[in-house]
Amino acid sequence: MSHLTPYRIRLTEDRKGLEITWSDGQVCRYPLVLLRKRCPCATCQADKKEKGDFYIPLFTADALTLKDVKQQGHYAVQLIWADGHHTGIYDYAYLLALCAEIARSEKDTPSP
Ligand SMILES: [Zn+2]
Repeated sequence: MSHLTPYRIRLTEDRKGLEITWSDGQVCRYPLVLLRKRCPCATCQADKKEKGDFYIPLFTADALTLKDVKQQGHYAVQLIWADGHHTGIYDYAYLLALCAEIARSEKDTPSP
């Protein structure tokens, strides 16, 4: 388990991403579409399992609009979306793993 905690959480200027500054100073930018796609709640996980790895969900604008971010104790944040979906609890370890994954994929993809 990681001991890092979010020091600051805010929306990016274009409102299409969530920026988390961790207690060690590293900054992670999460595209909202990725956060929604990787929603860890039981409903979304079951949905993904049922439809398979190659299923690409189509989200409405509301499904990709973040309404609120709530701190869940000292281990996770809860994301509340404009379409009413609010069961996704993203624990810090999950967010940090996602951050590493984003950094990796950015390195692998040559910039245009
Ligand atoms: Zn979900």
